[in-house]
Amino acid sequence: MPVRLTILYHLIEDFATTTKKQEIEIDHCSTYEEVFEVFEDETEIALKGEEEITMLGGYRFGKLTPDFREKNVFEHLEQIRSEEVKKDEMIQINIETPVKIKTTEILEEGSEGYLLSLLGNSNYVKAAKAIQKADIIIFATGAGWSADSGLATYPGVADIEPYRKRDLDYFDICQPHWRRQEPETFFGFWGDCCNVYRSTPFHGGYAIALKWKERLRHQSRIVPSFETEHSNLESASSREHLSNFPFFSLTSNVDAHWWNPNKGALFDRNEVYEIHGHIETWQCASRVCGSDLWALDKDFVFDVDQSTMLASEPYPRCPECNKTARPSILMFGDGEWKEDEVEEDRWDDFKHCVENVSKNNSDTNIVIVEIGAGQRVPSIRYMGEGFLMQLNGKRSLIRINPDTNCLGSAMLKGTDVDYITLQNTGFDALKKLDTLVEHFDENEGTN
Ligand SMILES: [Zn+2]
Repeated sequence: MPVRLTILYHLIEDFATTTKKQEIEIDHCSTYEEVFEVFEDETEIALKGEEEITMLGGYRFGKLTPDFREKNVFEHLEQIRSEEVKKDEMIQINIETPVKIKTTEILEEGSEGYLLSLLGNSNYVKAAKAIQKADIIIFATGAGWSADSGLATYPGVADIEPYRKRDLDYFDICQPHWRRQEPETFFGFWGDCCNVYRSTPFHGGYAIALKWKERLRHQSRIVPSFETEHSNLESASSREHLSNFPFFSLTSNVDAHWWNPNKGALFDRNEVYEIHGHIETWQCASRVCGSDLWALDKDFVFDVDQSTMLASEPYPRCPECNKTARPSILMFGDGEWKEDEVEEDRWDDFKHCVENVSKNNSDTNIVIVEIGAGQRVPSIRYMGEGFLMQLNGKRSLIRINPDTNCLGSAMLKGTDVDYITLQNTGFDALKKLDTLVEHFDENEGTN
């Protein structure tokens, strides 16, 4: 049968222990012998004998614990090797730190078993009900969200041979000084990002987000009061640059996949705030040049040699002073970044409207769906958590992340915010949640 193996193990390196989770899908697996082979190939941990466990894959696993010897788990391991793979079986193998292998049958989307397994998962059920009853939905996304489209996460974007050869990592390469010192390196990096972001189609999770946004039109009880708050915003510019609908996307991704009309994006610019800027808007790096930000020509393609990641002219130039330009994206050690003020105001104005609406309607359901936001640059996490904490109303934070280490929250502990975690990648979690939302809609209506 096809199985998904969920493998949990600990790595001990330099006296620090990290928990690793790995998921492997196998089309055909009849005996545990085959499962162990896959496990050994993927993790480089041998499940054979004491002498083979100590130094593998560069990690030291230490000797077997006395407990392990007593129970003679290897013997057990040998026994089950020839057994048939059972569904939902958890095998625990006690090396100094335990290894757990769980086999889960892969259920086809749309099958009865798929829905039943979701209905049996209390976190998914809780999250789907929160979405089903939401009055306001905010997506808060990090690099993990774009990874579902096949885009590299940080720091993986610089983890390629041309940079390894030069001993440059993501932190080194993502700095503004390269534009002055080595424009071919600077435009090699950002030019390649731009080419890739523009040519890579966005994943189906965006369509689910759009579907949930559209649900709000009949489901949300605060659409008129949100419109009123929007019309009360002081400046005409604020009203123009913010949607009057209770949906918002907050993201640290710079690919502009939420709104870029040249890609056929599903959302409008006036409902998205990219906290670090994005690849489509460029700026002059000069402090004395007074040029405004501008949109990069939609047909501009950077000439980047993939073997060296060095770019050749032409580079985008400032329309005022003709110096080489840069994307309006926050880099490391960046004193040149000019943030588009309209963007930051949009988020502030949205928050202002939500605050007022929830103040006057204490039973407003506010849901943040946070996806793939890691702890390396935790801005997105803090912005969402901080915002929920200062609001009235019934608030839920659905945190979706495949890494268990990213599923905790210090800030929300002890608050009345409903905190729901789903250990999964974004697109797959949304598909599952949407299956449940549809199921609940069909079976109980929206109330
Ligand atoms: Zn200029």
